[in-house]
Amino acid sequence: MTSELSRRPQLQHLTAQLDELKARGTHFRLRVLDDVQAPVCTYDGRRVINLASNNYLGLTAHPKLREAAIQAIKDYGVGSGAVRTIAGTMKIHMELEEKIARFKNVEACVVFQSGFTANAGTVSSILGKDDFIISDELNHASIIDGARLSRAKIKVFRHKDMAHAEELLKEVASDPGHKLLITDGVFSMDGDIGPVDKLCDLADKYGAIMMVDDAHASGVLGRNGRGTIDHFHCHGRVDVQVGTLSKAIGSLGGYVCGSRDLIDFLYHRARPFLFSTSHPPSVAATCIAAFDLLETEPERIERLWDNTRYFKAELGRLGFNIGGVTTPASETPITPIIIGDGRQTMDFSRALFDAGVMATGIAFPTVPEGKARIRTIMTSEHTRADLDQALETLDRVSRKLGIRTGA
Ligand SMILES: *Cc1c(COP(=O)(O)O)cnc(C)c1O
Repeated sequence: MTSELSRRPQLQHLTAQLDELKARGTHFRLRVLDDVQAPVCTYDGRRVINLASNNYLGLTAHPKLREAAIQAIKDYGVGSGAVRTIAGTMKIHMELEEKIARFKNVEACVVFQSGFTANAGTVSSILGKDDFIISDELNHASIIDGARLSRAKIKVFRHKDMAHAEELLKEVASDPGHKLLITDGVFSMDGDIGPVDKLCDLADKYGAIMMVDDAHASGVLGRNGRGTIDHFHCHGRVDVQVGTLSKAIGSLGGYVCGSRDLIDFLYHRARPFLFSTSHPPSVAATCIAAFDLLETEPERIERLWDNTRYFKAELGRLGFNIGGVTTPASETPITPIIIGDGRQTMDFSRALFDAGVMATGIAFPTVPEGKARIRTIMTSEHTRADLDQALETLDRVSRKLGIRTGA
């Protein structure tokens, strides 16, 4: 359909860039989910085994979470009506924050609209132009954006390279500016775990603020899904802990945990908190129910790790390159299948979809050039039969396309 707008010259540079993506084979269309986010579901009218969602514990459709949301809508309506600092702080928002703070064993917590805004809003507000951010090269985009908005000087260390991180900390040690040392708890594209304990040692040694973004670790790692700080026994050593409510927790949102003063400061200075409306009460209610489930249904986390171990072992046995040589080996439910070439990766992903497996192709610029991959993510709700069928399909389709990685 050509409209009046598409004939105007103003945005033609965008069209040119899209044409370039198409020429490179990395242009994509959005896949549309017809039913519920689940291990087997329907995208674009096709039934597929879903290896692409972050729904680690299957909570997006859990009956108790649905019930909590419906009850909150009945009791409190569908919207909060304002930003938190004006008139949009509801009792249920406070209840969720207190619950998360207790769960994480910290003084206080503040919930943001998303993990993205939690990171960007926090990093950009706690530092200024005279400060330094020492950041892993594979940290999430929301950290990078927050760092840029802070106007602090950004120093990037090679992925998980502690000697390099220390070198950068040393370089700025005599400068009076504040230093923030920051890592993802779990890296979303490779599925490896950040060396939180070693980074805490460095932060202590150099007096740096320590911050961890635990988006993919929340509900996955640590006791009952308490995250990497718990996994590494680093309680009391991480000044700023970020988590998400959008992945394992099954709903939407992000949170920051730390001292009472950190949270009070964010109330006053974090721009997404100050200038964007708070969650509908149903979202807060859903998340409260989800944290209850982490305690009452820990078998979900066990099933998630059982599936993860099985799927990784089988992928390795089939000869796929699942990292470990050119990229760090995954230690989590995220397992990349490294292909290399962007176009071939996207072709593989499309062919998998046609054969009934949904696994996202990820190419430059999300991952470095030459490191394109299919990313697979386990959930607790995949059955062994789902996994066997997915493995058989991966094997068959990769052979048909002449893709055999790792050999
Ligand atoms: C997904 C993700 C986020 C963003 O979380 P949302 O709640 O989806 O906005 C932040 N950091 C990392 C490492 C993530 O993987």
